[in-house]
Amino acid sequence: MIDRPTIDRILDAANIVDVVGEFMQLKRRGANYLGLCPFHNEKTPSFTVSPSKGFFKCFGCGVAGDSAKFIMEHEHLSYPEALKLLAKKYNIEVIEKEQTKEDIEKQNERESLLVVSSYALRQFSENLFNTDEGISVGLAYFKERGFRQETLKKFEVGYSLSKRDAFSKKALDDGYKQDFLIKTGLSIQGDDRIFDRFSGRVMFPIHSLSGQPLGFGGRILKTDAKAAKYVNSPESDIYHKSRILYGIFQARKAITRDDKCYLVEGYTDVLSLHEAGIENVVASSGTALTQEQVKLIKRFTPNITILFDGDQAGIKASLKGIDIVLEEGMNVKIVLLPDGEDPDAYSKKVSNEEFHRFLRDNETDFIRFKSKLLMTEAANDPIMKANLISDIVKSIAVIPEAIPRTVYIKECSGILEVNEQILYNEVNKLLTQKRIGDKTKFPVPESLPVVPKPAIKHEPASFYSEREIIRLLLKFGSVEFEQSANEEDKITVADYIVREIVSDELDFDDIVCAKIFADFKFNSEQGLITNDKQFVQHEDPQISSLSADLLSDTYELSKIWEVKQTYVETEDMKLKDIVGDAVLKFKSDKINILRKALMMQLEEAVKANNQEKINQLQRKYTTLSAALGEISKQLGGRILL
Ligand SMILES: [Zn+2]
Repeated sequence: MIDRPTIDRILDAANIVDVVGEFMQLKRRGANYLGLCPFHNEKTPSFTVSPSKGFFKCFGCGVAGDSAKFIMEHEHLSYPEALKLLAKKYNIEVIEKEQTKEDIEKQNERESLLVVSSYALRQFSENLFNTDEGISVGLAYFKERGFRQETLKKFEVGYSLSKRDAFSKKALDDGYKQDFLIKTGLSIQGDDRIFDRFSGRVMFPIHSLSGQPLGFGGRILKTDAKAAKYVNSPESDIYHKSRILYGIFQARKAITRDDKCYLVEGYTDVLSLHEAGIENVVASSGTALTQEQVKLIKRFTPNITILFDGDQAGIKASLKGIDIVLEEGMNVKIVLLPDGEDPDAYSKKVSNEEFHRFLRDNETDFIRFKSKLLMTEAANDPIMKANLISDIVKSIAVIPEAIPRTVYIKECSGILEVNEQILYNEVNKLLTQKRIGDKTKFPVPESLPVVPKPAIKHEPASFYSEREIIRLLLKFGSVEFEQSANEEDKITVADYIVREIVSDELDFDDIVCAKIFADFKFNSEQGLITNDKQFVQHEDPQISSLSADLLSDTYELSKIWEVKQTYVETEDMKLKDIVGDAVLKFKSDKINILRKALMMQLEEAVKANNQEKINQLQRKYTTLSAALGEISKQLGGRILL
């Protein structure tokens, strides 16, 4: 049990931006921070952190709370566990009564598995540094491989003694239940007693994002033909190998900082790269890369660079797995190490400076890499070449955005010496198949009633920005926007908003909003002041109800503008900024809607092989992107929601 004063101390110390920022990339936006929600799948950020209020909130899935809540949700921890984690981060001593055997039994199963895992980590570390066997066998191995002590400590590596039940026996003696030792996979049930899974191996703990050990990888040191070189923890309630990446805990800050993640194969590759000064590196540790792992990286950066050992045979097999990364819309690059080298060996062979330079100079875009690699093999073999083309086409077709797809098609047509049009046709065939496939994947049984989707699903992207514009018009329309010497030139908030929207020829999608705006527009152009009462008491019930809603205090607390509670308090004082921001937000939402429509037209044009149309649409797209860039410049580099 943690006492109340300690809890308060922990929560007072916890800085929500720091806490959340350790797990995902946050960008500043005005007084708040914004990022892609880690709790649901989204492409545009709706996850907001308010440092002044000390809480986070996702407008996509609704999850919200303080630092402790974030840790609980994110790391699947209990409240006390989350508090302890925060206490550790902020060096706050947690005074708790010593756990007795009974206490350990009382904890729920998941917690128990985590506790056992942490205990094992401590034991293995103790073995490595403080026992004769650990030092002469385990530590000697790491030293021979040239690893520094600080790296071993950073990754909390350890050693499991060679006696078949050394760990299991000690754990039982220390009060840990046999059941949990087996469920974590640390021990194996024998006929009459339990044995260690990892005996005689150096141990690599696999940490969660917050540094909690979830599982282990163990490398055998004896040359034993029967034993596997590496053994990993089996799947358990806490360890799911497809969801975690080795080294992510030690890498996540560097990944955000460098906006890039290197992917290698093995535990020692990760350690070696850290020693070479490259800390933004993770390993999928033996398994083929999964979509969940890609999403985990994507939370921190869209840029991934995969290091390949310098042997051609292994590469081709690995290439297929990379389509998963492309599907997530990430930028994939490849570095091929020199013949016969792996990242571990090569980073040690050359100086750090040479290694960094090598990575920089040899980074190649994935599609380009794949085309060139396969082309060298297939150059004179028409059948191989046909297979190769269909292979490349498959990779291009999984890329979610049309623009990079067309760029790749252009480029590959050069490398593969194939007519661009043929590639377009092939890609389109696959896209069409995929669309049909997606539709038939989950057929709705006929007996089920058709439930109308909630209206919120159909809201255009500009739903909230339209409402915010109307709210500002209703609430502050007649307030002076810019100081002016005489009454004649007085510009009101309504004048400003109307002018901005009309001059860019933008419209409201929401009919009610459009009606209200039309009245403001009319009055503003006549030099009249619009009275908000006319809307609240309007004969059209939709207008009166929306106006009342927007003018009520509860509106600020609902939905998207909740994060702007700081605005509510000081809205009058910062009115000019708020109105300016709202107009920019409105414009950028409208531009994004146009861009999306353009994208769809582009796909159609690509499908119809209309090159002229494609060029024309790409030009339009560029213009819109430039307009967006202009808006973000006006926002002073702040990111729009
Ligand atoms: Zn969410």
